[in-house]
Amino acid sequence: MKESAARSGNRQGTSGGDFKDCFRPEDYFTASKYFAPESLKEAVEILEGYGGDLKVLAGGTDLLVEYYERLYEVKGWLDLKNIPGLKEIKVFEDRIEIGPLVTHTELEKSENIKEYYPVLNRAAADVGSPQIRNRGTIGGNIITASPAGDLLAPLMAYDAEFKLVSTRGERIVPVGQFFTGPKRTIISSNEILSRIIIPLPGERTYGSWCKVGKRKALIISSITLALVVKFNKERVIKDIRACLGAVAPTPVEIKEVRKRARGKRIEDLNFSELGELVAERISPIDDIRGTAEYRRDVAREIMINALEEIAEKAAE
Ligand SMILES: Cc1cc2nc3c(=O)[nH]c(=O)nc-3n(C[C@H](O)[C@H](O)[C@H](O)COP(=O)(O)OP(=O)(O)OC[C@H]3O[C@@H](n4cnc5c(N)ncnc54)[C@H](O)[C@@H]3O)c2cc1C
Repeated sequence: MKESAARSGNRQGTSGGDFKDCFRPEDYFTASKYFAPESLKEAVEILEGYGGDLKVLAGGTDLLVEYYERLYEVKGWLDLKNIPGLKEIKVFEDRIEIGPLVTHTELEKSENIKEYYPVLNRAAADVGSPQIRNRGTIGGNIITASPAGDLLAPLMAYDAEFKLVSTRGERIVPVGQFFTGPKRTIISSNEILSRIIIPLPGERTYGSWCKVGKRKALIISSITLALVVKFNKERVIKDIRACLGAVAPTPVEIKEVRKRARGKRIEDLNFSELGELVAERISPIDDIRGTAEYRRDVAREIMINALEEIAEKAAE
C-alpha cells in the first residue's frame, strides 16, 4: 500500500504537480523513534537500552538511500549531530585524532590533513559531488565499509586505528583488523565509532592517490590506490604501504611490496615488477564497473605511475 502510494506520488511529481501532495514523508519514514543525545555516554546508553536496535545516523548519505530502498527495517534513529567533539580534528605530538562526523569537505579543506595526510585529503576531494561531500562523513564511510569506499585504502596506508565505545568501555582496533567483508566490519550493534586515530607521518613521507572510475565525478570507484612511502635521511625507503580499494571484499595492503622495497632507494626499484606484483596479488571480481582482468591491468599501471610520482617528489 505504502509503496504504491509513493510510486503514484512520484509520477505526479514528474508531471509538474505539487510535490507536497505527492511526497508523503510518512510513507517513507516509518521508524517511530528518534534520539539526538548530547553526550557520547548518553548515546551508548540509549543504544544499549534498545539492544543495538537503533540505526546510528551521521550524514545519512548511505543510510537514507538504503532506507528509501527498503533494504532494512528501521525501528529508530540515533543521531550523533549534537554530541560535542565528534566534528573535531585534533593534532597531538604523535598523532591526529579525527571525529567521525568530520565531513569529506572538511577533510578536503583542513590544512592539517593536507599537510600530514595528502592522500586522505585527495581521496576526500574525489568523493561523490559537493552535496555528498558536505554531508557524508569519514565515520559513515568507514562503517559502511563498501569495498569501493574511497577513504578506506588511504586510512590503511596511514595505519589508522578506530576507537569504538559502548557502555562496557572502549577498544581501539587497527584498520587491518576492522574490515571483514563487503559492508562488514567487527563493530557491534551497541558500539559507536568515536575517533579515527592516525600516527603523524615523519618527515620525508610522500604519498600518491589514484581513483579510477567510469567518469571523473560522482562515480563509484572501479579501483583505488593509496601509496605512502617513508624515506630516511639517506633517501633509503624506511617503509612503504601500497593499499588498494575495490579490488577485493575489503581494502587490502599488498605486503609483498613492503618486503621487496624496504631498505632500497626508490631509483633502484623495478617499477614494472612491483606493478606486476600488485596486479597478481589483488582478487578483483567482474562487475558492472569493470572485469577482473581490466582491474588487474589498471592496478599494474596505476602502481607504476604512483611510484614514478613519488620518485619525482622525493627528488625535489
Ligand atoms: C550520490 C552518492 C555518491 C556517493 N559517492 C561516493 C564516492 O564517490 N565515494 C565514496 O566512498 N562514497 C560515496 N558515497 C557513499 C557515502 O556518501 C559515503 O560513504 C559517506 O562517507 C557516508 O557517510 P554518512 O555520514 O552519510 O553515513 P551515514 O549514511 O549516516 O551512515 C553510514 C553507516 O555508518 C553508520 N555510522 C555512521 N557513523 C557512525 C558512527 N560514528 N558509529 C557507528 N556507526 C556509524 C550508520 O549507522 C550507517 O550504517 C556516495 C553516496 C551517494 C548517495
